[in-house]
Amino acid sequence: MTTANKWNSGINDRKLKELICEIGRRVYNKGFAAANDGNISIRVGENEVLCSPTMICKGFMTPDDICAVDLEGGQIAGKRKRTSEILLHLAIMKHRPDVKAVVHCHPPHATAFAVAREPIPQCILPEIEVFMGEVPIAPYETPGGHAFANTVVPFLKGTNTIILTNHGTVSFGANLEEAYWKTEILDAYCRILLLSKQLGRVEYLNERESVELLDLKKKLGFDDPRFHVENCDLCGNSAFREGYKDAQPQPAAFEPAPYYPGYLERQKSTPAPAAAPSAGPPIDTEMLVKMITEQVMAALKK
Ligand SMILES: [Zn+2]
Repeated sequence: MTTANKWNSGINDRKLKELICEIGRRVYNKGFAAANDGNISIRVGENEVLCSPTMICKGFMTPDDICAVDLEGGQIAGKRKRTSEILLHLAIMKHRPDVKAVVHCHPPHATAFAVAREPIPQCILPEIEVFMGEVPIAPYETPGGHAFANTVVPFLKGTNTIILTNHGTVSFGANLEEAYWKTEILDAYCRILLLSKQLGRVEYLNERESVELLDLKKKLGFDDPRFHVENCDLCGNSAFREGYKDAQPQPAAFEPAPYYPGYLERQKSTPAPAAAPSAGPPIDTEMLVKMITEQVMAALKK
């Protein structure tokens, strides 16, 4: 992994510029950004961020095209003009010091949910529960300015992936590949949801299966807002509801998730043995860990 040390070599880090170009190619080749859409950034200092320039196809960038900005968005290096949507990236980096890279694009399947303003249903696919969790939907604002950048701020605690209403997605992480994978995982999930809906129905996991996945997530050391938010049910009731100033988006296309009591309430009310991951025999936790680990390793090798 190229982003292991704290700030790498700053704004002249050739390897990180190449990585931005490589992720740009993946974003473009996957159809996540048409023409000159999308933008990518990596934090390389206390007040320095490398980013893709405006008006360039993300599939054809070279390291010399990459710009650098300070945390306020002022350009400090690069012969091309920095992306107009950099303020979105910087708002995330300022509020989440653990975030070192951001990818914003318009992946069609996830953006379909953004346009329909349809919440992404939970408690359906094991990997999504473990690696992603709830994906909040930030309200719409005209792209580019501070008002747009700030739409994501109320949702930053507890997720690394956010849908932008009537616009696209933004995902972020400790390094650029991790940030990009979130977008790829989300769009693949949205595609599966749309395909299964076309087949006629989308089945939710049952209560025991849903609890087991959250137990597994905890065991693997991943955080989830459902571990902390009171009165949030297992797969329906948004753990991000405090962030929604206007009405919280409600399911219209998909059946609402069944009601299962929340993870916190369950921990309080259930004696330890019943809540233990091994309580239900049909899901083999070891097998699931192995399966998920193999998929992550396969994704890493791509
Ligand atoms: Zn955009």
